[in-house]
Amino acid sequence: MIDESLARKARKQLYRAAKEIDLHADILKILSHPMRILKVSLPIILDNGRTKIFTGFRCQYSDARGPTKGGVRYHPNLTENEVVALAAWMTWKCALLDLPYGGAKGGIICDPKTLSEKELERLTRRYTTEIMPLLGPHIDIPAPDVYTTSKTMAWIMDTFSKFKGYTEPSIVTGKPEILGGSKGRKEATGRGVAIITREFFKANKKSLEGAKIAVQGFGNVGGHAALFLSQMGAKIIAVSDISGALINPEGLDVPGLMKCVEKHACVIKHPGQQIDRESLLDQDVDVLIPAALENQIHRKNAENIKAKVIVEGANGPTTPEADEILEKRKIPVLPDILANAGGVVVSHLEWVQALGGLYWEEEQVNAELERKLVKAFKVVWELMTRKKVSARCAAYIAAIERMAEVYQYRGLFP
Ligand code: NAD
Repeated sequence: MIDESLARKARKQLYRAAKEIDLHADILKILSHPMRILKVSLPIILDNGRTKIFTGFRCQYSDARGPTKGGVRYHPNLTENEVVALAAWMTWKCALLDLPYGGAKGGIICDPKTLSEKELERLTRRYTTEIMPLLGPHIDIPAPDVYTTSKTMAWIMDTFSKFKGYTEPSIVTGKPEILGGSKGRKEATGRGVAIITREFFKANKKSLEGAKIAVQGFGNVGGHAALFLSQMGAKIIAVSDISGALINPEGLDVPGLMKCVEKHACVIKHPGQQIDRESLLDQDVDVLIPAALENQIHRKNAENIKAKVIVEGANGPTTPEADEILEKRKIPVLPDILANAGGVVVSHLEWVQALGGLYWEEEQVNAELERKLVKAFKVVWELMTRKKVSARCAAYIAAIERMAEVYQYRGLFP
């Protein structure tokens, strides 16, 4: 599967930025290795009374800048290498956004669609129990990722709290609001994708009004990105999900599509012209937002892309080979560690609220999100124009320079 290429991709991106800034070889050695990986067996009793063993992982890539932070993914194709790559990207993302966190990621190899709610709850509670030695509000704080939700976070929080003997809301982020989840967290990643797209247009002295956009993966990230960009005046002309793709050159009805997904869990039940799912990527648009999964833009389809800019909503949607092709074709790629960082920014705000026993209004959360993302965009834009490197390389440079500085002060123990 994709895991080898993901681990290779994570390393390649790091090495390229390290070379650009002549990073000390010893720091590069440290940054190239995950700090800790835990692999666990998860036996649970299925609804039919039989026992099934699942496998789970938690990787804490680096805690140099603070407690580790990262999502929990449930997917049948999940691998250890994939978890490590995702944990590395979380590390760079937190550094780029200047959050006091290191990076982590975890997950379980399972197909949640084939499990009942009770089975998912037992699996989540067992997973929490097995990785408990690594968890803590000042050690490692999980969040939702692909096929995990606020309900999953509520089960993790409850299990952790029961073991500790007191309620600990700051152990997870992305939890339901009634348990201390932050206002604006659900929309934050998509809102961030829209903010970064808007800043890119602004930096290029262009208007988003009427700009044509295609979104691959109309889920949480893609759906909200489409919604906020349409509110900024852009036209969402094509969207897709696992069920298929829809197109309307005059602009799709995004709120209507969101209602359709809420009701039917797919976009193609919405009225409109259907197109082949793959051909969404080749549409003649101003912006292409891959917001589904990894490795969607690769060596074989990168030549066909007509978008003027790619904004990565998903983690790792572009392979290194596709990156090279797109760079040669002068199609900028706004990288995942910048474009989809809105989620972890608001996760940090949720953690701060939980630790302080506070509930902020949504305006306060959104204002802080906006401030952090605009600042990070400016750092990346300044670096990419000054050093004449891609946006990805600039984002990595900013992140690893901050990591390197931390090691200079902390030194190496013992
Ligand atoms: P989600 O499950 O809500 O949505 C994913 C969407 O992608 C679904 O609509 C699914 O049908 C669609 N999809 C899957 N395979 C597809 C394919 N081959 N073609 C077209 N569509 C396809 O998940 P999400 O939370 O929106 O996450 C999406 C991506 O964003 C992941 O890479 C995730 O790691 C990343 N991400 C999410 C967050 C967050 O806060 N949710 C934060 C940062 C990064």
